Amino acid sequence: ERETERLNEATKGSGEMFARAARHLAAGVASSYQVREPWPIYLERGAGPKVWDVDGNEMYDFHNGFGSMVQGHAHPAIGHAIRERYSLGTHFAAPTEDAIVVGDELARRWGLPKWRYTNSGSESTMDAIRIARAFTGRDDVLKIFGSYHGHHDTVMVSIGVEYDKIGDHDHPVSLPYGGGIPQSTVDHVFAVHFNDADSMERRIAELDAEGRKPACVIMEPAMMNLGVVLPEPGYLEAVRDITARHGIVLIFDEVKTGLTVAPGGATDKYGVLPDMVTLAKALGGGLPSGAIGMSEELAAIVEDGTVYQVGTYNGNPLGMAATRANLFEVLTAEGYVHLDHLNDRLLSGCEAVIEKYHLPGYAVGIGSKGCVTFATTKIIDYETFKAQQDAAIADLAWLYNMNRGIFMTPGREEEWTLSVTHTDEAVDAYVQVFDEMAADLTT
Ligand code: PLP
Repeated sequence: ERETERLNEATKGSGEMFARAARHLAAGVASSYQVREPWPIYLERGAGPKVWDVDGNEMYDFHNGFGSMVQGHAHPAIGHAIRERYSLGTHFAAPTEDAIVVGDELARRWGLPKWRYTNSGSESTMDAIRIARAFTGRDDVLKIFGSYHGHHDTVMVSIGVEYDKIGDHDHPVSLPYGGGIPQSTVDHVFAVHFNDADSMERRIAELDAEGRKPACVIMEPAMMNLGVVLPEPGYLEAVRDITARHGIVLIFDEVKTGLTVAPGGATDKYGVLPDMVTLAKALGGGLPSGAIGMSEELAAIVEDGTVYQVGTYNGNPLGMAATRANLFEVLTAEGYVHLDHLNDRLLSGCEAVIEKYHLPGYAVGIGSKGCVTFATTKIIDYETFKAQQDAAIADLAWLYNMNRGIFMTPGREEEWTLSVTHTDEAVDAYVQVFDEMAADLTT
């Protein structure tokens, strides 16, 4: 309560903004995830690793736009590219050269030969699933229970489910997340738990026996909405093997992991090649930019017109200019070396605090992403996350961060994302706040 009051006191300007917003924005926000009691924090500007809110509070940004801003705020190279492009015209719905250069680079980084563009992660996963359905001639989709892949109907299933409603391990329920999702869509979506390839194999065999072989498996190679849950050794290889044997299209949704964990995303990091990859978030250097990478076989049905993959702003000049600068000038191989260094320092700093105060938790991360998971045993999937994670400490950690100059993602589902402009000093500030909270909790 003390921490909540302190934050409310320090963010009164945000409270005033929210009162204005509530007049004409539904629930006072642009997007439902921005809802927060008593008001969301309104930011005014960002530069490099820092952001400032409307009350003038200066904070290191560890939220980084849900991991979109790995390049840091107002990066000069991206700013230059955007200004140049703006002066030449921002939108034609006709191709420009940057889209070619970006496609070449994505093919090189991911090892998938053919690409298309979108404007968001949701569009990427929606189009990828459609291509997989058309390719296989099947309607069913297999996803990982609890995994978020955007806000279109097919993937708004089996997420955010209460622990006691999950169902048995091999047959977790398919439930729509919120209203407006047709039951007929839900009926085509099945889920299995992460990190259990045997369960996936059994489920596919059962579905197959019912004549319902899925068109695709869509999954994050490392789960990024339960904090961070890494694949156990051999898991991704096993999934690759199962899907290949059954003729099921394997889609790695790298909207979060791509561009944040390695030059070629988790695909590159773990060395397992899917049939398709979906990108967005950190791809665009802070502008909306999404992409789908695919094999020649899958691309063939886009190329022959079987699947119509479209969008007025797909590959738009402004987004492509920012994406090109981001890939070639900012998120370079050296950039990832720096991110790895920072994350090692941050993770080991947090581990040291956990040990010092005997906290129930562990630090986990990959590339620029990580978190402290408050649980006594390792979280490996949605089931263990729901059963074991201590939500109360996670909420308190957010308040401690916000009150002490660390802008962080709220709640326990998300993780930090570092940027190439972060420094040792920024990372140490995070650890310092964590230490302060741990000290307060244990005295
Ligand atoms: N896929 C994953 C793994 C995501 O985390 C998200 C967003 O959080 C999406 C897809 C959807 O992306 P967007 O919000 O850009 O539509």
